[in-house]
Order: sequence, then structure tokens, then C-alpha cells
Amino acid sequence: MIDLHMHSCFSDGTDTPVEILKKCEKIGLKYISITDHDNCDAYNNAADFGNFSGKIITGIELQAYYKGISIEILGYGFNVPQMQNLLSNLYLHDVVNREELNRLYAVCKDMGMQFDDDVIEKYSASNIYYATEYLHNEIKKYDANRRFIPDDASWKRESVFFKRHISNPQSPFFIDESDLIPTAKEVIEVIHQSKGLAFLPHAFQYEENVQDILNGLAATLDGVECFYSTFTETQTNFLLEFCTKNNLYVSGGSDYHGTNRPETSLGSKTPIKYIEQWEPTVRLK
Ligand SMILES: [Zn+2]
Repeated sequence: MIDLHMHSCFSDGTDTPVEILKKCEKIGLKYISITDHDNCDAYNNAADFGNFSGKIITGIELQAYYKGISIEILGYGFNVPQMQNLLSNLYLHDVVNREELNRLYAVCKDMGMQFDDDVIEKYSASNIYYATEYLHNEIKKYDANRRFIPDDASWKRESVFFKRHISNPQSPFFIDESDLIPTAKEVIEVIHQSKGLAFLPHAFQYEENVQDILNGLAATLDGVECFYSTFTETQTNFLLEFCTKNNLYVSGGSDYHGTNRPETSLGSKTPIKYIEQWEPTVRLK
């Protein structure tokens, strides 16, 4: 087995990179990549990775805008210092988080939702990676807020709430962040400039926009994540066929987040032959 999509405590996962590698070693993974959101700090201490006997591909999952839709792009096999250098101009985390908090809070307050009086001030001390995740927790503190959120899954999980509502122009919870987040084109360019390959992760999370995103980005992407923990066989086959038609590489991963997403365990049944088709091209650079 392999796993090219995992989050460490450098973003919204709970394990340290060394803990992840220990677990990967235990279950015998052959190829792995830690793909934290918008940073590759997990690779700063790569010297500690020595005990892992499989192959490690550098990885990152970058937020981007495509025609007003918030998506992610995975980068693999890039040069870490070069990537870090380019990232410093691409994302301004503190500004983005602070703006997200203010904009989402304003939308929720307008609807009549209830919050603690000091909800904005308390954010800095909360230690929660995403401002939207923090505010989602705060929303759930008041049962009276339940009636404002259309579906159960969005009430329960911030990741669903974010995709279905915060980043969906059709939802009353939509907040426009196109002034804060780079475009998919810019993000893919940064991955290529740092000598990596760009893949589209978990395409079916984009629901009705899947086809539009795939078609629009096929020419600039290097590959697609065809194997993913929640995909059905039909979905995987659809993406495999898309890759064949468009001459794209194939990747796969779990999207492991440690105890932040207990239902997702490490390891992906992606056949290794797919990874062997492209991994040497990034390893040799
Ligand atoms: Zn992820």
C-alpha cells in the first residue's frame, strides 16, 4: 500500500510527522507523502525521517480559487526551500484567517445567529488552525443556531460546511475570498516553479462542479488523485478514464488527519504501478 495524502500537526492533523512515519512503517507503506495545508514545514526536520524504509515524496495541499470555487491542489516532489520561498508571497495566513473570521461572523450575525460576546477576541488564544473551523465550533455551542444550517452534515463537520456553504456562491453563508487566495493557475505555477507536479485531490468533494474543474484544469495539471478514502469504485474508474484520455498521472491517498478525523485511517489501495509512472520524474530533479 501507499498513501500520498496525509496531514500532520503542521496543519489540521494531530500526529507529528515522525509519528506518522512510524505508523506508516508499521503498516508497511511503500510510498508516502505528508501533504499539509499551505505549508511544507513537516519537511524541515526530514533528518528524523530516517527510520522509514519506504519512499518519501515531498507534498503539500494548497488552497486555490477556480472560477469563484475554493478548491485544493496537491503538489508533489517539489524542492522544499524553493517552495517555501514562493509560498511566502502566495499566502498571508494571518491576514486570511482574520478576514475569514470577520467575514463569516458578519454573515452569521446578519442571519441572527447567536455567539459568545467575546467570540472574535477569543480566536487568537484558541489554537485552532482555521478561523472557519473555530467559528463552526462556536456556532455549534448554541442549539438555536441549528435551524440556520440547511443540512446535518454541515452542522456536524466544518469541512462539509466549508465546501457546501462558505465557499459556495449559491449559499447564504458564502464569503468571497478571491481577494485573499491565489488562483488555481497561480498555485500550479508555484508547484512547477519549485520543480514539483500538480494533482487535483478528492474531485468529487466539489460535487456539481467536478466536471467543470476537471475540464478547466486538465491542460495545466500533471495528474489527478483517483484513489481516495471516500470514493466509490465508479468514481475512481471515472477519474482513471479521465486521466487516460487527458494524458494525466494518477495518485491516491487517504487524507489522514489523526484523531481530528478518526474515521480515516492511513493507507490507500492505489496500485503502485501508477506511482512508479511519475515518481521517478520528481525524484531525479
Ligand atoms: Zn487533505
